Amino acid sequence: MLLDGQGNRHLVSLRTGGRFVCHRGGLLHDDLIGSEEGRQVRTSTGQVLLVFRPRLIDFSLEMPRHTGIVYPKDQAVLLMWADVYPGATVLEAGLGSGSLTLALLRAVGEQGRVVCYEIRPDFIQLALTNIRRFMPTPAHLLIREHDIYGGIPDKPIDRLLLDLAEPWRVVPHALEALRPGGMLAAYTPSIIQAQQTVEALERGGEFTQIETLETFYRPWYMRDAAVRPVQQMVAHTAFLTFARRLAPGAWQWHPNR
Ligand code: SAH
Repeated sequence: MLLDGQGNRHLVSLRTGGRFVCHRGGLLHDDLIGSEEGRQVRTSTGQVLLVFRPRLIDFSLEMPRHTGIVYPKDQAVLLMWADVYPGATVLEAGLGSGSLTLALLRAVGEQGRVVCYEIRPDFIQLALTNIRRFMPTPAHLLIREHDIYGGIPDKPIDRLLLDLAEPWRVVPHALEALRPGGMLAAYTPSIIQAQQTVEALERGGEFTQIETLETFYRPWYMRDAAVRPVQQMVAHTAFLTFARRLAPGAWQWHPNR
């Protein structure tokens, strides 16, 4: 990643003999290959750029997208609230652009497993291109062209993450696939979707710790006397709904109903 003075990110896949060009001038890839992170380089026009490996956040926000993605602020909370841990078997639907997938692959580590269902074969190809660019050989990833509304053939799973239009339709399948103690998480732009999901989760009493929340990311502007929140922020991305699977036979009563 090349960072300019304005904080703009340029992602470059380095190859011997390659050349990077932007409006600030050009650079030879050979001058960057093998170099330390955090170094300064000068372009052909004398402008300074900083060299880093991209953070996953930088990569996710800059990679090509063909769907909406789960934004990093929500990914961070999803990983913690759904308790995605090293060694876990995680099922994700749909794959989309592969942004959340990368975060999951990293969180479960090489001892874990991420299984992704996606109905659009063209999206699978595009997402794989994104994933391989950041993580060249993710051996712990399995992608299936499969409609999750039809069922979950891969089981048992520890964690189930849903980013699709009708997550409540997955709840009956989650009952069969999620191990007792397993977590379900659903990312839904509309509160109506979240509500329908919660109703489906509560209906049979097989889930507990059911919670819906949203996250706000508000960076601050910090310059001399101007120390205040930035004036514009993303007002809404999605609601996050979580639930925990009980053991068969254990029934969750709902004290508020
Ligand atoms: N979380 C992804 C974006 C997912 S977009 C990211 O961060 O990049 C939603 C995806 O779900 C789309 O690619 C869509 O094709 C897929 N999808 C929709 N319904 C589905 C279903 N029933 N089974 C599997 N995938 C589905």
